[in-house]
Amino acid sequence: MAIRCKPSDPLWLFTGLFTWFLHVSVALVRLEHPAVKSDGSISLLVVGDWGRRSLYNQSEVAFQMGKIGERMEIDFVISTGDNFYDDGLRSIDDPAFHESFSRVYTARSLQKQWYSVLGNHDYRGDVAAQLSPALRRIDERWLCLRSFILQTGIAEFFFVDTTPFVDKYFRKPNKHVYDWRGVLPREDYLSKLLKDLDLALRSSQARWKVVVGHHTIRSIGHHRSTKELGNLLLPILKANTVDMYINGHDHCLQHVSSRSSRIQFLTSGGGSKAWKGDTDIFNKDRVKFYYDGQGFMSMRLTETDMNVVFHDVLGDNLYHLNLTKPQQHSAV
Ligand SMILES: [Zn+2]
Repeated sequence: MAIRCKPSDPLWLFTGLFTWFLHVSVALVRLEHPAVKSDGSISLLVVGDWGRRSLYNQSEVAFQMGKIGERMEIDFVISTGDNFYDDGLRSIDDPAFHESFSRVYTARSLQKQWYSVLGNHDYRGDVAAQLSPALRRIDERWLCLRSFILQTGIAEFFFVDTTPFVDKYFRKPNKHVYDWRGVLPREDYLSKLLKDLDLALRSSQARWKVVVGHHTIRSIGHHRSTKELGNLLLPILKANTVDMYINGHDHCLQHVSSRSSRIQFLTSGGGSKAWKGDTDIFNKDRVKFYYDGQGFMSMRLTETDMNVVFHDVLGDNLYHLNLTKPQQHSAV
């Protein structure tokens, strides 16, 4: 099931999303963000693991995002989750929303739509608050859903709620309390999500198919690869010729390619606190780039090219990835 609505239309909050919350546990909401540039290109930034009330260089990363965003004339921003540390938002009135989001990403170029997924730290707070349309009345840039599809014309972005996949949060939560409302029974939630995602990917006609989640599929960072996603999600991405999987969770910038598919694995989790030197040096197969510091990612997509750049906390370009596809010729 897909619900079609445009974030620019104020009615979408009260019809599409409200209906979704009432009647559907997983279904992929379908949003549209059409390209507005005359060449049909889309430009965006990707940042993850950021909400620390401007500490740990969050403000410095935000400042550079503003500069790069201005230069690229970005259309929107993607957040890969762990939006508010340490334990998500306590309520829709939690001052962390201002202190970690509205008052940090103040550059003119960042006054665009933000599309966000939840991370494991967000699940330790009031998930309903972070998903609530009420936050859009406080800051209209904010949009966070569990799983959804973003159509931009040349590209479709498939946002996946990855936290419920991870066994240890259920079996060994330690001192943490996770807000699983809307997720249980877990097996039903995951199987419906995977089925809906598979159907949506299979029917997609987009030139570029990009999947976004919080947790890693391939990573040599602190958390390493997420075996549950490798077992359950990756086969669906492979079967549907996804171009790229983007995640956060590991506080680094990273590119890993694959021996068994065309999928490129990109980590953009350097929005604030980073973990220097915590790397799995024995598992570097197909690791093209790894930077264990702060920063973010920019992307520009055209019909034939996807250009990805990792930027550090000073705004310097650390790494480029360019993917290409042949020009499409329309039948005469
Ligand atoms: Zn995380």
